[in-house]
Amino acid sequence: MRIQRIQRDIPSQLIYAGVDKSNLRQLVENELEKHGKECRCIRCREIGHKSLRQRIIIDEYDININTVFYTASEGEEVFISLVNEKYDALVGFLRLRDIQNSHRFELNKNPCMIIRELKIVGRELEFSKRSKKGFQHRGYGKELIDEAIRICTEEYDKKHLFVLSGIGVKEYYRNLDFKDDGVYLSKTII
Ligand SMILES: [Zn+2]
Repeated sequence: MRIQRIQRDIPSQLIYAGVDKSNLRQLVENELEKHGKECRCIRCREIGHKSLRQRIIIDEYDININTVFYTASEGEEVFISLVNEKYDALVGFLRLRDIQNSHRFELNKNPCMIIRELKIVGRELEFSKRSKKGFQHRGYGKELIDEAIRICTEEYDKKHLFVLSGIGVKEYYRNLDFKDDGVYLSKTII
């Protein structure tokens, strides 16, 4: 069940109409707890949020890639995540979208897909075992991007992958062979 995500940030006694509770998430969490359930939304599954509630020590070899295909906004999207199944905790995720008839010329040149979001949430993790390389160097972002590249070619038969990134992150993608392409960066998959 979805809850209203954008809340009025005003005292509840000043609300005259509509939802008059200003702590919906908390109410939902209490209700779930009564039923012995936990919220499984992205935010609650992020390892940082989880570790506020319980002590989590993850073996870095116990992190797997999980991929979900779904439709959104009249298109197909792919949610690729790095998950520790023991805690149902998200270490990072990438949202990939199949592009059809975009309003942007860059995206209309060739059949393509776009990385809509890439987030690594496990940087401050406490790990029980560390390889020599250490988890910081394992490159979770690259692992997610590699999987996006694989899906782009193997599942969608497309050779062009785009990303719209903030200026500060562009260098990261350039190092992974993405080239500046209008407002985006793109990579031709060979
Ligand atoms: Zn949640």
